[in-house]
Amino acid sequence: SLSNDVLLESRGLTVRFGGLFALNELNIDVRNGEVLGLIGPNGSGKTTFLNVISGVYSASAGKISLGGIDITREKAHNISSYGLSRTFQRSRLCLSLSVFDNIALGAQRTLNNGLWHNVVQRKAFAAEARKIAEEARELLGVFNTALPDKLFDPAISLGMIDRRRVEICRALIGKPKLVLLDEPSAGMTHDETDQVVDEILGIRKSLGGLTIIIVEHEMGLIERVTDRCVVLNYGKKICEGKFRDVAADPVVREAYLGQ
Ligand code: ADP
Repeated sequence: SLSNDVLLESRGLTVRFGGLFALNELNIDVRNGEVLGLIGPNGSGKTTFLNVISGVYSASAGKISLGGIDITREKAHNISSYGLSRTFQRSRLCLSLSVFDNIALGAQRTLNNGLWHNVVQRKAFAAEARKIAEEARELLGVFNTALPDKLFDPAISLGMIDRRRVEICRALIGKPKLVLLDEPSAGMTHDETDQVVDEILGIRKSLGGLTIIIVEHEMGLIERVTDRCVVLNYGKKICEGKFRDVAADPVVREAYLGQ
């Protein structure tokens, strides 16, 4: 029953930790090309949803499909090769490596293992490495900064906001279909967050067709970047629609007040 407009579909998706239902028979459609905000009080299951669709957790029941392919039982590395990538709340950059190497780690998704290993080891496949460097420069150029010139600087020399940009670029290398952004504002000031918002909008514009799921506490960011929101509470979907509509919904207001 998958329509062409739907990129990711979950049906009856359930994740249990012992007796706790972190996700409880969740049906979510993520449409092609949309920015979907996943919101809800603490502990409502947002991170669990990202983890189960990216293969970090396995589903206790239900089904997930991506681009019409059943990925419910797939391992994380296979799911990423189908075009799903993500960022994490806490930075996962290797600080001793260069910006380029960190971004090339993201390209592992689209290359076979041997090829990727050679790129990182600088052994062979110079053409492949050059292609990645070119794409990395292009992506870094989306952010209106000097980052493209810092491609071979160690990540440790970058400030917080540049590190976040590099992580986003790592998720974007190799043209994924679906990108999961887990709290892109985490650890940043209000101004920095505003900047990242503008940049996410810019990325979306320059990479036509990209679909994004964003988990975020900063409601201003959710309001500005999302086309639609799904609101979770106790692992269930309690509301969906445009941010301003869900934000005004009494059921949603009560869920947030209850926390
Ligand atoms: P959110 O991201 O909305 O804050 P989470 O998805 O992190 O919520 O958590 C949903 C529920 O599942 C919480 O009650 C949390 O304690 C529980 N949970 C999440 N991950 C685990 C885990 N690995 N083991 C046990 N319980 C977990």
